[in-house]
Amino acid sequence: MSGPLAGHVTAKLKRSLKALAVVVAVGAIAIFAARPFVPFSGGEAPLDTAPPAYMDMESEGGIHPQAESSDSESEDRARRPVEEVLQVGAGEKLMDLLGRAGVPSVEALQAIDSLVTIFDPRNLKAGQRVTVTFDPSPDGFGQGEFHQISLPADPIRDVAATRKAKGGGFKPEESKRQVTRQVAHYSGTIKSSLYESAMAAGVSPQVIIAMIKALSFDVDFQRDIQSSDTFEVMFEGWYDTRGKLVRQGDLLYAGLDLSGAEIQLYRYDDGQGGTDFFNAKGESAKKALLKTPVDGAKITSGFGMRHHPILGYSKMHKGIDFGVPPGTPIQAAGDGTVEMAGPNGSYGNYVRLRHASGFGTAYAHMSRIAQGIHTGRRVMQGQIIGYVGATGRATGPHLHYEVLQGNAQVNPMSIKVPTGVKLAGREFDHYQAFKRQTDLIMASIPSATHVAIMAGKPGFKAN
Ligand SMILES: [Zn+2]
Repeated sequence: MSGPLAGHVTAKLKRSLKALAVVVAVGAIAIFAARPFVPFSGGEAPLDTAPPAYMDMESEGGIHPQAESSDSESEDRARRPVEEVLQVGAGEKLMDLLGRAGVPSVEALQAIDSLVTIFDPRNLKAGQRVTVTFDPSPDGFGQGEFHQISLPADPIRDVAATRKAKGGGFKPEESKRQVTRQVAHYSGTIKSSLYESAMAAGVSPQVIIAMIKALSFDVDFQRDIQSSDTFEVMFEGWYDTRGKLVRQGDLLYAGLDLSGAEIQLYRYDDGQGGTDFFNAKGESAKKALLKTPVDGAKITSGFGMRHHPILGYSKMHKGIDFGVPPGTPIQAAGDGTVEMAGPNGSYGNYVRLRHASGFGTAYAHMSRIAQGIHTGRRVMQGQIIGYVGATGRATGPHLHYEVLQGNAQVNPMSIKVPTGVKLAGREFDHYQAFKRQTDLIMASIPSATHVAIMAGKPGFKAN
């Protein structure tokens, strides 16, 4: 065939073939939809060579392609409520989150109205997990009606808004986890840093940070700690029935044995409304300046003349460089006032604090300055003022730390810092009795365990 007629016939034939193909395809889908997991026994070549993904291979003697897709399991799933766990985005409101989960806005509003009677939505935190539950789908596909929103309101309380069984609307529901106040005791040997070794022993990061804060006045974490030194810590916490720590309480004791030199710090209420850590001699741990403003620090460059790695010539290094991973929190070395906070040339992001007794401290190359650290603000010793980085003229992440006497940089390792309070007289006797009791309790709790201590037991706050 040739010419226009031939062309016409060819086009017509093509259309017919297309239509036939559509009919065959629709037919096949219809058959599969009606009997989704029954093997197709027809002899159609296209189906034999390219079986649909949802065909049950097992009944043909092949290997089951997906363990989860057997008949009974899919039916079970269809009858189960559909649970979606969503993480709260930065600045996201419950309304947005429910919208994201596919909840119609009228129902979302009703559920939130009910939830706010037991939960303050301002306490919603970015990154927090919220569970949105839907009823089982009536037809086995997708999800049914929105049923519930639930979230942990705090470490011991879960809150939810659940669709009422009758009459429409939602009702608030609250469940409290059973928790008991216990005292935990951990000890171990330091391998590389206190942080890593205590983490390895099972101590939570919050407890370790509290420990480092308390010990920072006495311990130069770079110079004083040798591998095979030991640590000991005791703290109170609230534990659930499964033994999980749900809320950390006060640090009660922090101890280090540094090659035989013991540092023991006891949390003690001084009777004047203040609580502080005191050493075995009854001296408060708090001193004018911390020895190291970061934990686990290695001094990578000391105070004095050195060959500058970037400038290429020898230059006086007027501070101390601490090599620590980027993002490590930097603590204010002492109580004081922020004299400067912001970018400062080759220092990068920089904070300078002015302390009593004429001292100043400066911190450079921060990745970022902590929130609320502005010129004129008061800071407390140990408060986080920024995070280690490599801004300004730095070859890599480290903290450049300077101590100033007046306006001149001095060697932080050589200055003498004044000590704080010393307990005396009756107060010291009280403290001695308290200390003995703490030692006894600690000796009675095996390491890496926690025990319930009766509320009201002397020496421990009852709450
Ligand atoms: Zn430096």
